[in-house]
Amino acid sequence: MEHIENDDKYTGLTVNSGVAQPPIVNPYLTRRRRQPLPTPGEMVEGILKGDVTILSRAVTLVESLSPEHQAIAQEVIEKCLPYSGKSRRIGITGVPGAGKSTSIDVFGLHVLKSGGKLAVLAIDPSSERTKGSILGDKTRMEKLSVHPDAFIRPSPSAGSLGGVARKTRETIVLCEAAGYNNIFVETVGVGQSETAVHSMVDFFLLIQLAGTGDELQGIKRGIMEMADGIVINKADGDNVDRARLAQAQFRSALHLFPPTLSGWIPEVLCYSGYYELGIAEVWEMIDRYFEFVIGNGHFERKRQEQARYWMYETIDEQLRRHFYNNHDVASLLADKEQRVLSNRQSSFTAARDVLDFYFRGSDR
Ligand code: GDP
Repeated sequence: MEHIENDDKYTGLTVNSGVAQPPIVNPYLTRRRRQPLPTPGEMVEGILKGDVTILSRAVTLVESLSPEHQAIAQEVIEKCLPYSGKSRRIGITGVPGAGKSTSIDVFGLHVLKSGGKLAVLAIDPSSERTKGSILGDKTRMEKLSVHPDAFIRPSPSAGSLGGVARKTRETIVLCEAAGYNNIFVETVGVGQSETAVHSMVDFFLLIQLAGTGDELQGIKRGIMEMADGIVINKADGDNVDRARLAQAQFRSALHLFPPTLSGWIPEVLCYSGYYELGIAEVWEMIDRYFEFVIGNGHFERKRQEQARYWMYETIDEQLRRHFYNNHDVASLLADKEQRVLSNRQSSFTAARDVLDFYFRGSDR
């Protein structure tokens, strides 16, 4: 039978005519000119009016590393400060998979039912994974992300935990000035970030799962001590009994801790974020807490304590940055490090030499 493959010249290779490569740059793209930055005064005016676009731009400046942006951001924050403070700041933590996004979605809608506005912020310095956003895309909170009264902002990406946390704290000020009277600060419960969140919220909610052994983890890392409320998620279907058991275990574990500064006794509740069971009860607990701490003066004291904490945190951070960004210090450090590693100098005298050099420089 006559067939192309029977021909001696047939090599099995054919060359098809290809398709032209599309240009890398969209030819229809017309360069949009970046809008010039509003002045700090205009920004404050927009924020106070609740303009979300301006609020977002201001937050971007807060997050920016450029000294020029920082200067504007600081001015805006300073001017917004008198209008801030009138919100409930709630920290929400839990290990990945505990159901934070699912829960924040339903908690958020629940809160918004009684009016007001909600800002959801996050602290996640570790998330190289998503380039600094645990919220990744906003689809994690499906319903909230399309709610007109909700503002969702992923974690600032760059920098140390202290730096990231400070930016979130400053963002809280801007959101409050823009009329957000409920602030959620989410963090992945796997590192030091809980402490940072704890230092900027009024109520700290720990989301736990039944039967994962996390009970002990939480105790070990001191997270349970920070919690004002522990909620056991996924108390639905077959899991209800296990959740109830975990609830009893957490309650007895809480007895091991000394009484809290606020005098509030942390509560442990079960709920299901996915099936929306027990949501109102969790929120009633939070309402009770606010009533209690506002009544006994702890609310005000804690906010003052936090303000002081952030002042020193900011000083620490700026000092450190100034020190390590100093070019001469950096080269001396490299040299000293080598000397220490090769046992030619002790760590302490090396540190002293570098600090002496730095302080002599700043005296000049
Ligand atoms: P996150 O990593 O803490 O933000 O957790 P997610 O909200 O993404 O939830 C992790 C997984 O747990 C998802 O597959 C959710 O559908 C599921 N989940 C969340 N809440 C519940 C719940 O109340 N019950 C059940 N059965 N599953 C849930």
